[in-house]
Amino acid sequence: MVPRRRLSIPAACLAALCLLVPRASGAAQVGTLDVPTITRLWRAERLHDGPPALMTHARLVERLDALVKEGGGLFRIEPIGRSVEGRSITHLWFGSGPTGVLLWSQMHGNEATATSALLDILRIVALHRDDPPVRRLLERLTIHVVPMLNPDGAERWQRRNAQGIDINRDALLLQSPEGRALKALRDRLQPALGFNLHNENWRTSAGKTRPATISLLAVAFDDADTETPGRLLAKRTCAVIRQAVETLVPGQVARYDEDFEERAFGDNITKWGTPVVLIESGPVAGEHADSELVELNVVAILRALDALASGQVEAADPRAYASLPINTSKLYTAIVRHASIVPGTGVAPFLGDLAIDSTRAVRTAGGAREALQAFRVADLGDMRVFSALDDVDAAGLFAVASRGWKPGETVEIADWAAFRSWRPLEVGAVTDIALLRPDAPGRYTVVRVIPAQRMLGAE
Ligand SMILES: [Zn+2]
Repeated sequence: MVPRRRLSIPAACLAALCLLVPRASGAAQVGTLDVPTITRLWRAERLHDGPPALMTHARLVERLDALVKEGGGLFRIEPIGRSVEGRSITHLWFGSGPTGVLLWSQMHGNEATATSALLDILRIVALHRDDPPVRRLLERLTIHVVPMLNPDGAERWQRRNAQGIDINRDALLLQSPEGRALKALRDRLQPALGFNLHNENWRTSAGKTRPATISLLAVAFDDADTETPGRLLAKRTCAVIRQAVETLVPGQVARYDEDFEERAFGDNITKWGTPVVLIESGPVAGEHADSELVELNVVAILRALDALASGQVEAADPRAYASLPINTSKLYTAIVRHASIVPGTGVAPFLGDLAIDSTRAVRTAGGAREALQAFRVADLGDMRVFSALDDVDAAGLFAVASRGWKPGETVEIADWAAFRSWRPLEVGAVTDIALLRPDAPGRYTVVRVIPAQRMLGAE
């Protein structure tokens, strides 16, 4: 369990004030936007806004307003519509170059990584606008950003909008105001390249064993997978992103499902004339997964924009995209292997593995928004064909639904066959899971507890 980090009101004000610094981070000018430079810039200049899931529409509006005010004309902003519940959908743009690029994030309300990344990128651009590679971005590109397309979904932390529509299946019927706003913007701008920014399920693996931390797709616009100059540009851009991201997470970049989905926005925007790069942020191990994903998005997007502005993208080999391992679903957040699984229903323990998956959840407690990682037993039995972010060898241990036990504690259970746990350890169970080491007949030591939830942050 990570210690709970509560952003107090003064701290939140400080975070907002960071935006009021117009320029000059004090650091030397940046000469290139390579991966080490981008990660250094991100660590120095990012907003420190907590987990992306805590970014509400109201906070986003504050952040964007502050950026525009202090940008001294660098950023321009306009509403391009309102959500079903009347929240503004904002389009921000900067640069004056001939090549238009459009990036949109959070079409699915509970997929917030790229929204935080875009805000961090805007801040980096504002602070380093006089540095040569940023100047080149501003001179050669016009960069359009829709940081939160589905604010009602974001407010509820759900995929769909307030109509219950998956906006990404509404590109043809256009029944959602959010979908109409995106299409109208695309049609007006006719950008040369689009970036469709999402999060994917944490079950997603790159091939059979590695986590698909970033998945890429040069989106198809027909069943025949026809190649055009635009799709080639999208593939080359994916190749640039792969090369950049793999320096940070080797083997953890995958290719997203290439099948044409005739109702989806990426597919139709490509068809309408703007080739689209899909970036999906997926599973990554460790306590700092959420911020690591933001960092990887900043690296992916800034490297891609820099390569577009410099013309470097034309030299990228599309085979570096084509040869990516394909997305599959072979991964769990944790697998407890070779345990004696205690169903806790009077059924005798048996040897097997417990597979645990997880999602990002948001709840409001006492008026404050809290982000957490919620774990659930997804499967049990023989899990040898799956891999895990956290692979736990529990040979010789008993796995049981915990009754609030702590590691190191001694528990006494006279007879497993008669043991009834507070809830069954079964598929779908949401419970802390204790791993018990037998010490003497009927006596066990708790060696580890896998919690049912982990706090990521609170506002
Ligand atoms: Zn999505």
